[in-house]
Amino acid sequence: MHIPELNKPAQEQCPNDCGSCAIYEQRPQSCRAYNCSWLRGDLFRTKKKKNRQVSIAPLRPDRLGIIFDNASDDGTIVARELEDGKLVQESELVMKVAAKVGHVILVYKDGRKGMI
Ligand code: SF4
Repeated sequence: MHIPELNKPAQEQCPNDCGSCAIYEQRPQSCRAYNCSWLRGDLFRTKKKKNRQVSIAPLRPDRLGIIFDNASDDGTIVARELEDGKLVQESELVMKVAAKVGHVILVYKDGRKGMI
């Protein structure tokens, strides 16, 4: 995500990313306003369960180790690895997302990029 307040381009790691946010209490408004696909609930199907909307996929980024989000307005999705090895470990799940949306840009923790 592009963060104008920090002059941080999209698809590049934030200098304040230390596994969590090093400036969380002072983070810019762009960060405060950001909601990933999991929070927005706009990428994955949900179902009603006891009057609650429940995600059918275990895609909460801090538990999965991967954050999914829109890469552009054309519907392309990016899967950004938050923990080393998670894109490989969770490749079956990532492939399911790719089958649903068409393409997924992979961004590995070490900066490598790929696409499926
Ligand atoms: S929340 Fe913190 S680590 Fe994340 S992009 Fe914003 S400033 Fe950087």
